[in-house]
Formats: sequence, C-alpha cells, structure tokens
Amino acid sequence: MKSYRKELFFHTKTRRAYINITPQVEEALVESGIREGLCLVNAMHITASVFINDDESGLHRDFERWLEKLAPEKPYDQYDHNTFEDNADAHLKRSVMGREVVVAVTEGKLDFGTWEQIFYGEFDGKREKRVLVKIIGE
Ligand code: ZN
Repeated sequence: MKSYRKELFFHTKTRRAYINITPQVEEALVESGIREGLCLVNAMHITASVFINDDESGLHRDFERWLEKLAPEKPYDQYDHNTFEDNADAHLKRSVMGREVVVAVTEGKLDFGTWEQIFYGEFDGKREKRVLVKIIGE
C-alpha cells in the first residue's frame, strides 16, 4: 500500500471565507500516483472546516447567514470562551461544518457525486492555516 501526505496553506484576508480546494486536492492525488484508495482532507485547526458541497455563490452566502444566525461573531462578550480570544463563534461554526472529508479514489480520480466539490471553510482567518491531505491506496 502506498501513502502520500501533503499540507495546503491558506491565509485569508477576511475573518471568514469559503475556498474551493478541489484543484489542490486533485493535484495532490496526481503527485501521489495512487489510482485506487481513499483521500482524507482535514483542517488542522479548530476554527476551520473542510466540507463537501456545491460551488455556488448563493449557497455560500446562505451558509454565511445561517452560521451567523447559529453562532453570531458579535457581541464577543456573549461567549464564555472569549476571555483571552474573540473566536468562540469560529469554534462553533467549525463544529457545525465539520473537520474533514474522505473521498474515494477510483481509477486515479476523486470519485465525486454530482456537483460535489471540496471546500475549506475559514472562520477565524487573517493568519496562516493548514489543511492536511492524506491519500492511501495503490
Ligand atoms: Zn479559541
């Protein structure tokens, strides 16, 4: 069995962002040389997510509004976590949107359902963050 590991780096200009990282994951898959197996993609931070959904800008605005209703960023003092930090909302948003995705690798390609794309969800950006890509198979 082969194994391949790669880190992707993100530094968003905004506190929150939704980035389609499918091309970077496909690039990692090509580099791995793996044709049959599994591809794990996970955020390496507790204030960011990796999730699969549609690459449609209206939907991304809907996610943003929905997450802000569930866990509004402000006022900061509404959260017990915000004593030395101001990112409690980002921890909560990450919990809703998830830590990782696993995609099957079939004949050297990510075996997606219709319209599926992989996204990095940033909820506490403006600094360097990492995503892990781990591919196993043969
Ligand atoms: Zn925190």
